[in-house]
Amino acid sequence: MLLDTHIHLDFLPVEPAPLAEARGREIGGWVVPGVTPEHWPRLMMTVAATPGAWAAPGVHPQAADRWRPELAGELRRLAAAPRTVAIGEVGLDGQIGPDQAVQEAVFRQLIRLARETDRPLLLHMRRATSRVLKLLRAEQAQAVGGIAHAFSGSLDTARQLIALGFALGIGGVVTFPDARRLGEVVRGVPAEWLVLETDAPDLPPHPHRGAENRPEWLTLIADRVAQLRGWTPAETARITTTNARRVLRLPGEEASS
Ligand SMILES: [Zn+2]
Repeated sequence: MLLDTHIHLDFLPVEPAPLAEARGREIGGWVVPGVTPEHWPRLMMTVAATPGAWAAPGVHPQAADRWRPELAGELRRLAAAPRTVAIGEVGLDGQIGPDQAVQEAVFRQLIRLARETDRPLLLHMRRATSRVLKLLRAEQAQAVGGIAHAFSGSLDTARQLIALGFALGIGGVVTFPDARRLGEVVRGVPAEWLVLETDAPDLPPHPHRGAENRPEWLTLIADRVAQLRGWTPAETARITTTNARRVLRLPGEEASS
């Protein structure tokens, strides 16, 4: 079974049933990250209604200005919910969103909240690698670890994240014919730090660039990782799902039937 560690299920159209095709292709687990506090109720409802889905409520750096310290109580409550496995997606975006100082302050508070509630983090890091690493260290995020979502950095960055307990979320970028550096990262890191994700409806894999990403296209990402590592499809599923279960501390048995 494949596990999608980052999918915005609550932003996918509900008709036709978004996961029917994915379930048919042996994708059986989904982690749904938060974006804005306003969306938390919809996120938690979507997860509750979807067998195999897990929640990662949090605040996307793009929406950092929606965070208020008064929301901490609500987020702590959601973090303790039985289907919540992480706090996400949180981090820094050097390209879009509010002022970097605002993003950094919110990121720090959310790392602290993850440590307090003992939940791993789903990291968003775009054009902010060194600052993200610095804040992870300053706030001792290695106590919880997690996943660096949509990883596309260098092998050196990958190793620094792994040393802090963060697996690399490998998504559609790995399928792009020109993604040489990411291919080298996938080949060069220890197998136990690779997990898969679609980020649907964003970041569609090759040859669907420009389309709205779909849950079943996780298999295109899995196929490319398999090719890079020399794994069979069955090994790819076993290894990446075991890794995801470990970093997210999911129960060992099948997440859904
Ligand atoms: Zn995302």
